[in-house]
Amino acid sequence: MSTHPLLFSLGSRNPTTRQIADTVKAGGTAALTDAERRADEARYQEVSCRSALNRVEGMPFRWTLNPYRGCTHGCHYCFARRYHVQFEMDADDEFASVILVKRNLVEVLKRELDRPAWMRELVALGTATDPYQPIEGQYRLTRQSIEALARGRTPIGLVTKGPMVVRDRDVLQDLSSAAGCTVYMSVPTVDEDAWRILEPGTAHPLQRLRAVRELAGAGINAGVLMAPIVPGFSSSRSKLERTVKTIADHGARFVGCNVMYLQDGTRTHFMKFIEREFPAMLPRFERLYTKKYPPDGYRKEVQGMVRVLQERYGLNKREDASKPREVALEPEATQVGFAW
Ligand code: SF4
Repeated sequence: MSTHPLLFSLGSRNPTTRQIADTVKAGGTAALTDAERRADEARYQEVSCRSALNRVEGMPFRWTLNPYRGCTHGCHYCFARRYHVQFEMDADDEFASVILVKRNLVEVLKRELDRPAWMRELVALGTATDPYQPIEGQYRLTRQSIEALARGRTPIGLVTKGPMVVRDRDVLQDLSSAAGCTVYMSVPTVDEDAWRILEPGTAHPLQRLRAVRELAGAGINAGVLMAPIVPGFSSSRSKLERTVKTIADHGARFVGCNVMYLQDGTRTHFMKFIEREFPAMLPRFERLYTKKYPPDGYRKEVQGMVRVLQERYGLNKREDASKPREVALEPEATQVGFAW
């Protein structure tokens, strides 16, 4: 494959995400000649960020922090796929195979946390991509960020599908004492077929739940987001019940849920995936997803079903069950799913 030279001199500094986008626009991802290909076949491009904490609007939190862009977990429903387009990359294979690593993130974060104007508001960590995807084992940007946040007495809500989070239980405990910390392990379903099909690069759901048990046992407010529940794959009553029961059996302190929503590049990717792998299901998805979300009726029905299951398995009575505000790390996170 031919490669294109970078359009700027890297010198000793990593390029910014804007420079990466310009380079890819001119020459495709092949132009990222400094991106390192690793054993997982993904390519990792180090970048410099100008800011670490990103201000967001219209969410239940005002600040986000994401050490990586792109995610090798490669979930087909991932809402963050559409963000990769900002870097002139596609929301399909490139989302899961070209990962941007914010090499200077911790240094920038420390400066921001030290500003007198910083009000120590809640920071949502891992909203765009998974902070515990495998490359974190090498860079440890998430761990160092948590250490900085603990020193800066800034509370976090952290979302992940990575059992590697247990490696950091010590710093999560420090942060819990210093400011507050909630870990939301994403386990949409314990159904093995749905897991293999929809979340090809993730750890087994039970491995994720064992991580929740360990964190909760260490005194950390750790629970589960059944998010997203995917119509036709994980939305049946029996699968929902098995999942809620297994979550309860693993000592989760709370459970929240969210039905899949599809927007922009994520929608295009998901529909192409269904058309290719499950063509018989395509017309149904097209009918259900005429808008970003499926119809209210479905969502309410399954929301009610999950509520009943939470009560049946005692998840609503747990001492540290999170309040709705804490569960709502994604927009409309209390939406749950529907029977298909
Ligand atoms: S683990 Fe999260 S961020 Fe990564 S692909 Fe899956 S849904 Fe997206």
